Order: sequence, then C-alpha cells, then structure tokens
Amino acid sequence: MIKILFCAKCGSILAPKKDDPKKIVCTGCGYSPRQQKTLRIGEKIDAGKKLEIIDKTMETLPKTEAQCPKCGHNKAYYWLAQTRAADEAETMFFRCVKCNNQWRSY
Ligand SMILES: [Zn+2]
Ligand SMILES: [Zn+2]
Repeated sequence: MIKILFCAKCGSILAPKKDDPKKIVCTGCGYSPRQQKTLRIGEKIDAGKKLEIIDKTMETLPKTEAQCPKCGHNKAYYWLAQTRAADEAETMFFRCVKCNNQWRSY
C-alpha cells in the first residue's frame, strides 16, 4: 500500500527535499512538518473513514441510475467525496440499493 502524505496547511502533496531527502516539505507552500503526527495520511485511509461515516447516513442519500458491477441492479445511492488534496476533482461513489456493493468512478 502506498501512503501519500498531504500538507496539513494547504493540502498539497509532501515530498522529500531534493538536497536533503530526510526532510519532507510541501510541494505547494514549502511548509515542513516537524512531526509525522501533523500529516494527513493516504488516500485509502481517508476514504475508508469517510465511507464509515457515510454508512450511518445512507438513508438520506439520493439515488441514481447506475449499474452495479456485482449484481447488475440499476439503482444506486451516490455521493461525492474528496479523497485527496482540495484542488483535485471529487470522486463519485456509488452503493447498490440491492446488494450494498460499493464502487467509485473517476
Ligand atoms: Zn502546503
Ligand atoms: Zn448490486
């Protein structure tokens, strides 16, 4: 699993400094976090947490016509979630009304 680190200040991706690879700096604002704790970690962890929250509010979500890749049903709940930096496009998530299968589109 790849962990992508984001700047806590501006949301840009953090990368090691060229002349000092042990130091991590923000590619957007140049902010250099001192501790790993201040970082927001990885797309996958973020998305998983959001999905947990969404599970609880599922009843209120709108439905759309989308075909479930698992069972072929053509109605699904949908929502948008930001899984990366704020300046990147939102990801559309779907959840099958029938079998609860979840998938995402780009
Ligand atoms: Zn930054
Ligand atoms: Zn389904």
